[in-house]
Amino acid sequence: MNVDFGGKTVLVTGGTRGIGRAIVEAFAESGARVAFTYHSSTDVADALVGSLEDQGTEAVALQGDVADFDVAQSHVDAVLERWETLDVLVNNAGITRDGLMLRLQEEDWDAVLDTNLKGVFNFSKAAYRPMMRSGGAIINISSVVGATGNAGQTNYAASKAGVVGFSKSLAKELGSRDVTVNVVAPGYVRTDMTEELDEDAQETILDAVPLDRLAEPDEIAESVLFLASPAAEYITGHVLHVNGGLSM
Ligand code: NDP
Repeated sequence: MNVDFGGKTVLVTGGTRGIGRAIVEAFAESGARVAFTYHSSTDVADALVGSLEDQGTEAVALQGDVADFDVAQSHVDAVLERWETLDVLVNNAGITRDGLMLRLQEEDWDAVLDTNLKGVFNFSKAAYRPMMRSGGAIINISSVVGATGNAGQTNYAASKAGVVGFSKSLAKELGSRDVTVNVVAPGYVRTDMTEELDEDAQETILDAVPLDRLAEPDEIAESVLFLASPAAEYITGHVLHVNGGLSM
């Protein structure tokens, strides 16, 4: 997207791989200063910071579990210490622990809800005051599954539907402070997460997608940049579905 984010500070959770990485790279290409978080892939994170810096981007990688509020607070504090403002928060980090209800364990439920939903709360709460002071945009990554449901993903669907309710409520709280809160709900995207699906599952998905292919991560990033851009400053509480027509 051809928007100048020069002078803007962006924080992306889960920025080392897949959709998050594409979002980090797209903001960097558009001139933003970019902080991103990750959980375990330190080598990948360091290499990404190196390549962003080589391209002239100010970048920082922050390690920790999004499910831990203290981690979220320390990450937001680190961004503010370095750059003084936080203009765009993208809550992207997410996991799956799939299984039919019969076999799903309590720990599968807790891990997915803690990462995908509590993680969004944690970073939004930590960023709330600084963003209230100067305005900005929060963009949360949900999923088509949060709207349609999916057998074998009760935990994941609940977390992603929760992200939508959370975002609409926060949009109402923060509207008068010039902070927009929106959701991007991807369909199936070519990342490590979908790589785990077997061939049959991938074919079933493709049969249901009118555009007849998975999305590439940068196609999701484009929607995130749009919602963070001045072109979207009168859009809040919106769910932007980017799913190739899988659900209409
Ligand atoms: P990937 O599995 O490719 O990458 C996940 C990213 O999140 C990594 O950077 C990972 O860090 C980070 N992460 C995972 N758990 C934690 C944690 N507890 N704390 C901090 N960081 C964490 O995921 P995708 O790019 O596929 O998905 C990104 C988002 O998009 C997720 O919210 C997902 O639910 C959603 N989505 C994905 C779809 C898809 O088809 N791929 C479809 C719809 C929605 P590390 O590298 O250190 O592990």
